[in-house]
Amino acid sequence: MIFIPLPWQRERMPETPPVFRFAPSPNGLLHLGHALSAVLNHDMAKAENGRFLLRIEDIDQTRCRPEFEAAIYEDLAWLGLDWERPVRRQSAHLDAYASALERLHRLGVVYPSVMTRGEIKAAVAQAEADGRTWPRDPDGSPLYPGRERTYSISERTALLDGGKAYAWRLDMQKAISLFGSAPLTWNENGAGPTGETGTIVTDPAAWGDVILSRSDAPSSYHLSVVVDDALQGVTQVVRGRDLYHATSVHRLLQRLLDLPEPLYYHHRLILGPDGHKLSKSNQDTGIAAFRAAGRTPQEVRALIV
Ligand code: GLU
Repeated sequence: MIFIPLPWQRERMPETPPVFRFAPSPNGLLHLGHALSAVLNHDMAKAENGRFLLRIEDIDQTRCRPEFEAAIYEDLAWLGLDWERPVRRQSAHLDAYASALERLHRLGVVYPSVMTRGEIKAAVAQAEADGRTWPRDPDGSPLYPGRERTYSISERTALLDGGKAYAWRLDMQKAISLFGSAPLTWNENGAGPTGETGTIVTDPAAWGDVILSRSDAPSSYHLSVVVDDALQGVTQVVRGRDLYHATSVHRLLQRLLDLPEPLYYHHRLILGPDGHKLSKSNQDTGIAAFRAAGRTPQEVRALIV
């Protein structure tokens, strides 16, 4: 049996059904952690006479493959889940993310950046060799140095015309400063990595100047997820605890773009035998592998609850 939390605090009209979604990226096979997320969303929606949507997050065309998308449908159907059709596929909605980005441009909170991963690494190594501590985001990656943030109009024009690949980034400090001193929060119905629950005060600054779009990926995860949750009327975001800290960025983007605030529920992660979070390359914990080994959907459900 799946644990069903107490009824969500509702801000919407009582007759409006809650909307849940499972939003995998088709860049590998689904594993037990995805099964937990999908089953939780599905069962919570059912328990609350709500809607259950499936969204394919395939913005990063360099890593997403049609065969993985087909496997998502097959695995979820095998688990006994049913979702609304048509399924929203992010790659078919690039215009929606482009207009959100355009709005951020108009607010003056984006800038073009050119440093490659290697260049960032070298800058961080240099700073650390000089005895400085370089700030890192909640996932452990160094924050973007951001020297293009203060470019003059002519320097920015030269950068854009220079032919080098660039990414649009959020000017985090400027974005935060638009909202005065009232803390930006979210309502956590599950729990964060150290048990945080209830009203959570965001800390988007911890992420630095996040990427919003790149030449090879026209929208970032952060931007497309908030646009889609709003466009699809998602009221409850139920997902793994690995995305708990990312919620700070999502709440900031929702505020900048004037989007509604969903309720959040971050669930536990399923760890592999080595104690680490499962990854899509863990073939042995893939849903398809269980199916191929003759296990039943009930047995797989029993492993995750
Ligand atoms: N597409 C994301 C992933 O596969 C999940 C997005 C979300 O639930 O917000 O990890």
